[in-house]
Amino acid sequence: MSHTLRNLVLVLGDQLDLQAAAFDGFSAEHDAVWMAEVAEESTHVWSSQPRIAVFLAAMRHFARALEAAGRPLHYRRLDANDTQPTLAAQLRADLATLKPQRLLLTRPGDWRVLQALQDAAQAAGVSMELREDRHFFTTPQDFARHAQGRKGLRTEYFYREQRQRFRVLMDGDQPQGGAWNFDAENREAFGPEGPGFDLPQPPHFEPDVVTREVLDLVRRRFADHPGRLDRFAWPLTRAQALQALQAFIHERLPLFGPYQDAIWPGEPWLYHAQLSAALNLKLLTPHEVVAAAEAAVRSGRVPIASGEGFIRQILGWREYVRGIYWTRMPGYAEGNALQAQHDLPAWYWTGDTDMACLRDALKQTLEHGYAHHIQRLMVTGLFALLYGVEPRQVHAWYLSVYVDAVEWVELPNTLGMSQYADGGLMASKPYIATGKYISRQSPLCGSCRYRPDERVGARACPFTTLYWDFLLRHEARFANHPRLALQVRGLARVDEAERARIRAQADALRVP
Ligand SMILES: Cc1cc2nc3c(=O)[nH]c(=O)nc-3n(C[C@H](O)[C@H](O)[C@H](O)COP(=O)(O)OP(=O)(O)OC[C@H]3O[C@@H](n4cnc5c(N)ncnc54)[C@H](O)[C@@H]3O)c2cc1C
Ligand code: SF4
Repeated sequence: MSHTLRNLVLVLGDQLDLQAAAFDGFSAEHDAVWMAEVAEESTHVWSSQPRIAVFLAAMRHFARALEAAGRPLHYRRLDANDTQPTLAAQLRADLATLKPQRLLLTRPGDWRVLQALQDAAQAAGVSMELREDRHFFTTPQDFARHAQGRKGLRTEYFYREQRQRFRVLMDGDQPQGGAWNFDAENREAFGPEGPGFDLPQPPHFEPDVVTREVLDLVRRRFADHPGRLDRFAWPLTRAQALQALQAFIHERLPLFGPYQDAIWPGEPWLYHAQLSAALNLKLLTPHEVVAAAEAAVRSGRVPIASGEGFIRQILGWREYVRGIYWTRMPGYAEGNALQAQHDLPAWYWTGDTDMACLRDALKQTLEHGYAHHIQRLMVTGLFALLYGVEPRQVHAWYLSVYVDAVEWVELPNTLGMSQYADGGLMASKPYIATGKYISRQSPLCGSCRYRPDERVGARACPFTTLYWDFLLRHEARFANHPRLALQVRGLARVDEAERARIRAQADALRVP
């Protein structure tokens, strides 16, 4: 390398892609890469052990890939003596010695990190070039154009635009199969026998020496953080991520659609892809994931309802939430449209509750750093919404516990879709339901001390009590809401004495 360092390419823990935009024009002779493990990224929210381990282990594997590609690397390890506590402080310290002419950064996944790195570069007097992240199908500017002049934003219209623009599942100018959306054919529950013994299991990636070292580090350094590491088996390299993708497309995608919303105790993955962490770390591109699913549909191996349902999650929802994030931050994080003020119950961090559905979803979350969408939206999220937890605290919990949690995707899903804290920008109505919804989607109510169809009394299901309490608390706000008014009208059959009983029971549930 020449004596003067031209470009220092900053690579963050969720930017593990040799083709990232910040590498364009990279020359091993003139440029170098910078990566840093810092404590703040695991402590600014109380990150779970699985989440910390996924990020650190994937970073260390990526460092090897960089070395193999011959790209000079300055890598700061958390277990070294001289590391700084924050990314910004570490960057400032390293700029003093490396003295690059310029910094290159692909747009990060977190507004806070972008600000901190830009401030650090400015304080050091080094210019920084921010490059758009071409990992995604769309840019924040594309989203802003889509949103311009619209009264309401709906993912369905955005999704259809992307199907047409990228020619995904299209026959000429018509959607393949004659419809944009096959949801009516999806959303089944399992029968009493459950998913059965032949449920395909996703590949298990046994921790190698690099990963085992990280697991030891996390156990020592973050011993008081939530979650467990004894079942850790996530894909952490590009090769493993590709293997996980192939296994999903061949073995689980065919039944993804019908069982998308089903919950079965002890079966965390069911027919879900388990690919969000690999995608968010940038080990996989959404383009290759969508292309693989589309090819499987076109070959006739996968029904259109499953293939389309899956593609909609990636090409629709994933892009849409990112657009919301980058066009609405930083104010978006402050949203609290329903003025929810309660603290998150402490048992969210342990799973120690009598409610069978929450216990199952929380224990699984702590064990694997994973829960599927309906568990996040209609179990943990629904309970927090009905209980009235302050959205900021719900957001911190989701950002902490899941291995796929990066703020651009976690925040709109939590604050917008799940907690309605943005007042309806992201979701057309609050997703509220009684315990009967959970009893339709899972067998869990059968093993619970509560009864989903009772709203007051010793055996009343807390979801059902809190659902009616939610309607009572927000009756005026939603009385004329196009999608919630019907539910609100149910209050007409609840007399004053019953209303008082519901309120008292809900208040008792909130006593810590
Ligand atoms: C409250 C809440 C918080 C969430 N937090 C996150 C998060 O931090 N990170 C994250 O990646 N997803 C998040 N999601 C979305 C979704 O639950 C996960 O992407 C999904 O459960 C990951 O598991 P999977 O890979 O098996 O997905 P599958 O169910 O098999 O779906 C396939 C893929 O579609 C994408 N996808 C599906 N739904 C969404 C969505 N709503 N938004 C964005 N992408 C989606 C993911 O990349 C996922 O891998 C959250 C959802 C809710 C309701
Ligand atoms: S009865 Fe209520 S708390 Fe118990 S599992 Fe069913 S929905 Fe959950």
